Amino acid sequence: MGKKIVLVTGGVRGIGSAICREFLKSGKYFVIASATNAERNKIWVEQQKKDGFSDVDAVVCNVTDYAECQKVLAELKSKYTKIDVLINNAGITRDITLKKMAKEDWDKVIETNLNSLFNVTKPILDMMLDNGYGRIVNMSSVNALRGQFGQTNYAAAKAGIYGFTKSLALETARKNITVNSISPGYIMTDMMKDIPGEVMEKIIAQIPVGRLGQGEEVARLAVFLADDASGYITGADFSINGGLCMY
Ligand code: NDP
Repeated sequence: MGKKIVLVTGGVRGIGSAICREFLKSGKYFVIASATNAERNKIWVEQQKKDGFSDVDAVVCNVTDYAECQKVLAELKSKYTKIDVLINNAGITRDITLKKMAKEDWDKVIETNLNSLFNVTKPILDMMLDNGYGRIVNMSSVNALRGQFGQTNYAAAKAGIYGFTKSLALETARKNITVNSISPGYIMTDMMKDIPGEVMEKIIAQIPVGRLGQGEEVARLAVFLADDASGYITGADFSINGGLCMY
Protein backbone atom coordinates (compact mmCIF):
# COMPACT_ATOMS: atom_id res chain seq x y z
CA MET A 1 0.00 0.00 0.00
CA GLY A 2 1.23 3.53 -0.80
CA LYS A 3 1.97 6.23 1.72
CA LYS A 4 -0.87 8.14 3.30
CA ILE A 5 -1.09 11.81 2.33
CA VAL A 6 -1.21 14.30 5.18
CA LEU A 7 -1.87 18.06 5.11
CA VAL A 8 -0.73 20.15 8.09
CA THR A 9 -1.90 23.78 8.05
CA GLY A 10 0.63 26.18 9.55
CA GLY A 11 3.09 23.34 8.97
CA VAL A 12 6.36 25.18 8.50
CA ARG A 13 6.85 26.62 11.99
CA GLY A 14 6.32 25.70 15.62
CA ILE A 15 3.99 22.84 16.51
CA GLY A 16 2.94 22.33 12.86
CA SER A 17 6.52 21.81 11.72
CA ALA A 18 7.14 19.39 14.59
CA ILE A 19 4.03 17.45 13.52
CA CYS A 20 5.27 17.27 9.92
CA ARG A 21 8.64 15.96 11.12
CA GLU A 22 7.01 13.28 13.27
CA PHE A 23 4.93 12.08 10.29
CA LEU A 24 8.04 12.07 8.09
CA LYS A 25 10.09 10.17 10.69
CA SER A 26 7.47 7.40 10.76
CA GLY A 27 8.13 6.73 7.06
CA LYS A 28 4.41 6.05 6.49
CA TYR A 29 3.31 9.43 5.15
CA PHE A 30 3.79 11.93 2.33
CA VAL A 31 3.59 15.29 4.09
CA ILE A 32 2.23 18.57 2.70
CA ALA A 33 2.67 21.67 4.86
CA SER A 34 0.65 24.80 4.15
CA ALA A 35 1.46 28.31 5.31
CA THR A 36 1.42 31.91 4.10
CA ASN A 37 4.91 32.68 2.82
CA ALA A 38 6.34 31.06 -0.34
CA GLU A 39 9.97 31.81 0.53
CA ARG A 40 9.68 30.42 4.08
CA ASN A 41 7.92 27.33 2.67
CA LYS A 42 10.74 26.78 0.17
CA ILE A 43 13.42 27.03 2.85
CA TRP A 44 11.46 24.61 5.04
CA VAL A 45 11.13 22.02 2.26
CA GLU A 46 14.85 22.32 1.46
CA GLN A 47 15.66 21.73 5.14
CA GLN A 48 13.53 18.58 5.26
CA LYS A 49 15.25 17.27 2.12
CA LYS A 50 18.67 18.03 3.61
CA ASP A 51 17.61 16.03 6.66
CA GLY A 52 16.87 13.06 4.40
CA PHE A 53 13.09 13.37 4.04
CA SER A 54 12.01 13.43 0.40
CA ASP A 55 8.25 12.80 0.70
CA VAL A 56 7.44 16.40 1.41
CA ASP A 57 5.84 19.44 -0.23
CA ALA A 58 4.67 22.88 0.92
CA VAL A 59 1.97 25.17 -0.47
CA VAL A 60 0.89 28.73 0.16
CA CYS A 61 -2.70 28.79 1.38
CA ASN A 62 -4.23 31.49 3.52
CA VAL A 63 -6.66 29.55 5.71
CA THR A 64 -8.86 32.62 6.17
CA ASP A 65 -9.58 32.85 2.44
CA TYR A 66 -12.31 30.39 1.41
CA ALA A 67 -11.79 30.83 -2.34
CA GLU A 68 -8.02 30.35 -2.03
CA CYS A 69 -8.51 27.19 0.05
CA GLN A 70 -10.87 25.77 -2.60
CA LYS A 71 -8.36 26.51 -5.35
CA VAL A 72 -5.27 25.18 -3.55
CA LEU A 73 -7.04 22.04 -2.36
CA ALA A 74 -8.35 21.32 -5.86
CA GLU A 75 -4.76 21.62 -7.12
CA LEU A 76 -3.56 19.26 -4.38
CA LYS A 77 -6.30 16.81 -5.33
CA SER A 78 -5.20 16.74 -8.95
CA LYS A 79 -1.53 16.37 -7.92
CA TYR A 80 -1.88 13.78 -5.12
CA THR A 81 -5.43 12.39 -5.81
CA LYS A 82 -6.44 12.35 -2.12
CA ILE A 83 -5.75 13.60 1.39
CA ASP A 84 -6.00 10.97 4.13
CA VAL A 85 -5.06 13.05 7.15
CA LEU A 86 -5.80 16.70 7.91
CA ILE A 87 -4.21 18.53 10.82
CA ASN A 88 -5.96 21.90 11.28
CA ASN A 89 -3.10 23.57 13.12
CA ALA A 90 -2.75 27.14 11.77
CA GLY A 91 -3.52 29.74 14.41
CA ILE A 92 -2.73 33.21 15.72
CA THR A 93 -3.18 35.25 18.88
CA ARG A 94 -4.08 38.95 19.25
CA ASP A 95 -4.11 39.19 23.04
CA ILE A 96 -5.80 42.19 24.61
CA THR A 97 -8.63 42.69 27.09
CA LEU A 98 -12.12 42.90 25.59
CA LYS A 99 -12.39 46.49 26.85
CA LYS A 100 -9.48 47.49 24.58
CA MET A 101 -10.03 44.99 21.78
CA ALA A 102 -10.55 46.36 18.25
CA LYS A 103 -13.03 44.68 15.93
CA GLU A 104 -10.11 43.65 13.74
CA ASP A 105 -8.43 41.80 16.67
CA TRP A 106 -11.63 39.83 17.19
CA ASP A 107 -12.24 39.12 13.49
CA LYS A 108 -8.66 38.08 12.66
CA VAL A 109 -8.50 35.58 15.49
CA ILE A 110 -11.92 34.07 14.74
CA GLU A 111 -11.14 33.91 11.02
CA THR A 112 -7.74 32.27 11.46
CA ASN A 113 -8.50 29.89 14.33
CA LEU A 114 -12.14 28.96 13.68
CA ASN A 115 -13.46 29.96 10.23
CA SER A 116 -10.35 28.24 8.80
CA LEU A 117 -11.78 24.90 9.91
CA PHE A 118 -14.71 25.38 7.55
CA ASN A 119 -12.53 26.71 4.72
CA VAL A 120 -10.01 23.86 4.82
CA THR A 121 -12.02 20.92 6.11
CA LYS A 122 -14.97 21.23 3.73
CA PRO A 123 -13.14 20.43 0.47
CA ILE A 124 -10.97 17.81 2.16
CA LEU A 125 -14.01 16.13 3.71
CA ASP A 126 -15.38 15.56 0.19
CA MET A 127 -12.11 13.78 -0.71
CA MET A 128 -12.24 11.70 2.49
CA LEU A 129 -15.87 10.71 1.90
CA ASP A 130 -15.00 9.66 -1.67
CA ASN A 131 -12.10 7.57 -0.37
CA GLY A 132 -13.98 6.11 2.60
CA TYR A 133 -11.16 7.05 4.96
CA GLY A 134 -10.00 10.05 6.95
CA ARG A 135 -8.32 11.34 10.09
CA ILE A 136 -8.89 14.95 11.17
CA VAL A 137 -7.12 16.54 14.14
CA ASN A 138 -7.95 20.12 15.18
CA MET A 139 -5.60 22.20 17.33
CA SER A 140 -7.42 23.87 20.22
CA SER A 141 -5.83 25.16 23.44
CA VAL A 142 -5.83 24.80 27.21
CA ASN A 143 -7.23 28.34 27.25
CA ALA A 144 -10.40 27.12 25.55
CA LEU A 145 -10.96 24.86 28.57
CA ARG A 146 -10.26 27.39 31.30
CA GLY A 147 -10.38 30.90 29.71
CA GLN A 148 -7.52 33.36 29.84
CA PHE A 149 -7.16 37.04 30.68
CA GLY A 150 -6.73 38.98 27.42
CA GLN A 151 -7.94 36.12 25.22
CA THR A 152 -11.70 36.43 24.79
CA ASN A 153 -11.16 36.20 21.03
CA TYR A 154 -8.72 33.27 21.12
CA ALA A 155 -10.54 31.29 23.83
CA ALA A 156 -13.86 31.72 21.99
CA ALA A 157 -12.36 30.51 18.70
CA LYS A 158 -10.57 27.58 20.33
CA ALA A 159 -13.67 26.55 22.31
CA GLY A 160 -15.64 26.70 19.05
CA ILE A 161 -13.29 23.99 17.78
CA TYR A 162 -14.74 21.56 20.36
CA GLY A 163 -18.27 21.98 18.98
CA PHE A 164 -17.04 21.61 15.42
CA THR A 165 -14.99 18.51 16.29
CA LYS A 166 -17.77 16.67 18.11
CA SER A 167 -20.44 17.51 15.53
CA LEU A 168 -18.31 16.49 12.57
CA ALA A 169 -17.27 13.33 14.43
CA LEU A 170 -20.96 12.38 14.63
CA GLU A 171 -21.54 13.18 10.97
CA THR A 172 -18.60 11.01 9.84
CA ALA A 173 -18.57 8.20 12.41
CA ARG A 174 -20.01 5.65 9.97
CA LYS A 175 -17.69 6.75 7.17
CA ASN A 176 -14.37 5.56 8.58
CA ILE A 177 -13.41 9.17 9.34
CA THR A 178 -12.38 10.26 12.83
CA VAL A 179 -12.34 13.84 14.13
CA ASN A 180 -10.54 14.80 17.33
CA SER A 181 -8.95 17.82 18.95
CA ILE A 182 -5.79 18.48 20.92
CA SER A 183 -5.59 21.16 23.62
CA PRO A 184 -1.95 22.01 24.26
CA GLY A 185 -0.79 24.03 27.24
CA TYR A 186 2.16 26.40 26.84
CA ILE A 187 4.48 25.12 24.11
CA MET A 188 7.80 26.77 23.22
CA THR A 189 7.23 28.27 19.73
CA ASP A 190 7.30 31.70 18.03
CA MET A 191 3.79 32.25 19.42
CA MET A 192 5.34 32.50 22.88
CA LYS A 193 8.07 34.94 21.96
CA ASP A 194 6.02 38.11 22.52
CA ILE A 195 5.25 37.15 26.12
CA PRO A 196 7.41 39.33 28.40
CA GLY A 197 10.01 37.51 30.55
CA GLU A 198 8.35 38.26 33.89
CA VAL A 199 4.96 37.04 32.61
CA MET A 200 6.62 33.86 31.29
CA GLU A 201 8.17 33.21 34.72
CA LYS A 202 4.70 33.45 36.28
CA ILE A 203 3.29 31.08 33.67
CA ILE A 204 6.00 28.48 34.25
CA ALA A 205 5.53 28.75 38.02
CA GLN A 206 1.90 27.61 37.52
CA ILE A 207 2.78 24.56 35.43
CA PRO A 208 3.02 21.47 37.66
CA VAL A 209 5.80 19.85 35.60
CA GLY A 210 7.73 23.14 35.88
CA ARG A 211 8.50 23.82 32.22
CA LEU A 212 7.03 24.70 28.82
CA GLY A 213 6.13 21.86 26.47
CA GLN A 214 7.96 21.06 23.25
CA GLY A 215 6.37 20.93 19.80
CA GLU A 216 7.61 17.35 19.47
CA GLU A 217 5.53 16.30 22.48
CA VAL A 218 2.34 17.58 20.83
CA ALA A 219 3.44 16.05 17.52
CA ARG A 220 3.58 12.52 18.97
CA LEU A 221 -0.06 12.86 20.06
CA ALA A 222 -1.18 14.16 16.65
CA VAL A 223 0.53 11.29 14.84
CA PHE A 224 -1.00 8.78 17.26
CA LEU A 225 -4.52 10.13 16.58
CA ALA A 226 -3.87 10.07 12.83
CA ASP A 227 -2.88 6.43 12.84
CA ASP A 228 -4.94 3.87 10.98
CA ALA A 229 -5.24 1.91 14.24
CA SER A 230 -6.85 4.87 16.10
CA GLY A 231 -10.23 4.37 14.41
CA TYR A 232 -12.15 3.96 17.69
CA ILE A 233 -11.06 7.40 18.94
CA THR A 234 -13.44 10.08 17.67
CA GLY A 235 -15.10 13.24 18.99
CA ALA A 236 -12.54 13.45 21.78
CA ASP A 237 -10.26 16.18 23.08
CA PHE A 238 -6.78 15.46 24.38
CA SER A 239 -5.06 17.73 26.88
CA ILE A 240 -1.28 18.02 26.82
CA ASN A 241 -0.39 20.73 29.29
CA GLY A 242 2.05 19.52 31.95
CA GLY A 243 -0.77 19.27 34.49
CA LEU A 244 -1.78 22.94 34.14
CA CYS A 245 -5.46 22.13 33.72
CA MET A 246 -6.93 18.76 34.68
CA TYR A 247 -10.44 18.84 33.22
P1 NDP B 1 3.39 29.57 15.38
O1 NDP B 1 3.08 31.03 15.49
O2 NDP B 1 4.75 29.09 15.72
O3 NDP B 1 3.02 29.05 13.91
C1 NDP B 1 1.76 29.32 13.39
C2 NDP B 1 1.64 28.72 12.00
O4 NDP B 1 0.32 29.05 11.53
C3 NDP B 1 2.65 29.31 11.02
O5 NDP B 1 3.18 28.32 10.18
C4 NDP B 1 1.79 30.30 10.22
O6 NDP B 1 2.17 30.45 8.86
C5 NDP B 1 0.43 29.61 10.25
N1 NDP B 1 -0.62 30.59 9.98
C6 NDP B 1 -0.98 31.68 10.70
N2 NDP B 1 -1.95 32.36 10.07
C7 NDP B 1 -2.22 31.66 8.93
C8 NDP B 1 -3.10 31.86 7.84
N3 NDP B 1 -3.96 32.91 7.79
N4 NDP B 1 -3.10 30.97 6.83
C9 NDP B 1 -2.26 29.91 6.86
N5 NDP B 1 -1.40 29.66 7.84
C10 NDP B 1 -1.37 30.55 8.87
O7 NDP B 1 2.27 28.86 16.29
P2 NDP B 1 2.35 27.54 17.19
O8 NDP B 1 3.11 26.49 16.52
O9 NDP B 1 2.69 27.95 18.57
O10 NDP B 1 0.79 27.16 17.22
C11 NDP B 1 0.23 26.17 16.37
C12 NDP B 1 -1.20 25.94 16.81
O11 NDP B 1 -1.22 25.48 18.16
C13 NDP B 1 -2.07 27.20 16.77
O12 NDP B 1 -3.37 26.87 16.37
C14 NDP B 1 -2.07 27.65 18.22
O13 NDP B 1 -3.19 28.43 18.52
C15 NDP B 1 -2.06 26.32 18.94
N6 NDP B 1 -1.58 26.38 20.30
C16 NDP B 1 -0.30 26.83 20.57
C17 NDP B 1 0.15 26.86 21.87
C18 NDP B 1 1.53 27.32 22.23
O14 NDP B 1 1.80 27.43 23.43
N7 NDP B 1 2.43 27.56 21.31
C19 NDP B 1 -0.72 26.47 22.98
C20 NDP B 1 -2.02 26.00 22.58
C21 NDP B 1 -2.42 25.96 21.29
P3 NDP B 1 3.53 31.26 8.44
O15 NDP B 1 4.66 30.36 8.84
O16 NDP B 1 3.37 31.41 6.97
O17 NDP B 1 3.48 32.54 9.20
